[in-house]
Amino acid sequence: MGWFRGIGHPQADEHEGWAALVLDDDTLSSEHSDRTRGRVTGWRAACDCGWSSTTTFVPGEPIGDRTAAPRLIEANAFDEWTQHVHDAVPGLVEYERQLDELDELAAEQPHPHDELARRRHSRPPH
Ligand SMILES: [Zn+2]
Repeated sequence: MGWFRGIGHPQADEHEGWAALVLDDDTLSSEHSDRTRGRVTGWRAACDCGWSSTTTFVPGEPIGDRTAAPRLIEANAFDEWTQHVHDAVPGLVEYERQLDELDELAAEQPHPHDELARRRHSRPPH
């Protein structure tokens, strides 16, 4: 499962990240298969652009045959990857802040159709 900003920012949208498997020989893999099953020692955030985190997340319980990262590790790796994209793309933090503001403004404005429907319903009977 990959991560993608998908916010219409060409530079940010070039980055696609995932929780890479750290194998027992300390190589990274994105392969969830028999070849990697039983060899996973943890997970590390990685990106299509070649970046990977230096932090390996290891769960509290034995990994066993699992290849998919536990939810909390996936979330932590996602946060690291997000930080990486913010570091890699100047001005992205500000761009995303403005997007949030626009979303909030849009949420405050009644949708024209909703407003029309409300007026119709409140019209007195004749
Ligand atoms: Zn990247």
